[in-house]
Amino acid sequence: MLDLVIGFLGTIVTGLFVIYLVLFVLLQGKKKELSSPNTLIDMDKMPVLRPIPISTANQKSFLNKILVFVFHVRRWRVEQAFIYEYKGKQYAVHAGFEFDGASIPKPLWALLSPVGLLLIPGLIHDYGYRYNGIYILDEHGEAVWDETISTQSGWDELLKGIGNDVNKIQILNELAKFGLALGGGAAWNKWRDKNEDRVAFMWSVDDKKQTSNQYQENVPDANIADANIAEGNVAEIAKTPEGDAEEKTFASGTTKTTQIGYENSNNQKVLGSRNLDATDKKNVTFKISCGHCNEEYGAKTSEIHRRKCPVCQEGKPSVNW
Ligand SMILES: [Zn+2]
Repeated sequence: MLDLVIGFLGTIVTGLFVIYLVLFVLLQGKKKELSSPNTLIDMDKMPVLRPIPISTANQKSFLNKILVFVFHVRRWRVEQAFIYEYKGKQYAVHAGFEFDGASIPKPLWALLSPVGLLLIPGLIHDYGYRYNGIYILDEHGEAVWDETISTQSGWDELLKGIGNDVNKIQILNELAKFGLALGGGAAWNKWRDKNEDRVAFMWSVDDKKQTSNQYQENVPDANIADANIAEGNVAEIAKTPEGDAEEKTFASGTTKTTQIGYENSNNQKVLGSRNLDATDKKNVTFKISCGHCNEEYGAKTSEIHRRKCPVCQEGKPSVNW
């Protein structure tokens, strides 16, 4: 029996190695063609991702370090909301979302990298598995929650469709979908059990915010500890009245001109708002700073795109912020 298994695996590994060598020989004559100008792509369409550290450094034993090294995969945080248009819909992944690329089992990474061809379809697919819904930008550029897709197979189908759109290797995307139908159920069920609330849409990440240190389920102890911390956080937030938390931090709004860091043509820069939850949207105000004289003042949402500085550009007086 063992002989059969070893023989079978040996044949597969040898076969793959031979295929690799054949392709490597073919590559030598094709190098120029493969990097011709019309193969260039548009960087603007790529997500802005930041690697999350793999936490071997502070583990207390060598075994723990090895376990983290082997089982903890690199995870990434979406730094700016990622928008992908597909079949007339602008799918939007909020800033701050953390994911591990296409969740491909580590022994198969030699064949298919989790942050390779399936990066973008994998990002949207991970989001769908996690929340069973996704933001869509409406005609005003506002992020609206959408639950059109609500089944595991629905998200797998979207992965295939976006994959075909992005990488144009249909057989690869078909295989990925097939793999998910076979092995995606565990992840899908895990997220359904957790039943997380969706997260308010954010366009960019506040740099000072510390990221969580989540482990893959293959590291059980750490996972339990992590779950406890997460629960603690939820309880704490629930106790804090909504207004209190908002008062101290400046946040970005949901439109382009209300992002922290947005600067209009008069060099007036948005520093964020503390009253985004105002019942009347007209009462939402933003802290602005002037790029010429550094004056800090308040402005209404609707004024931001053409606001002038009240001190040095004869703009309107400041409002409360
Ligand atoms: Zn000024």
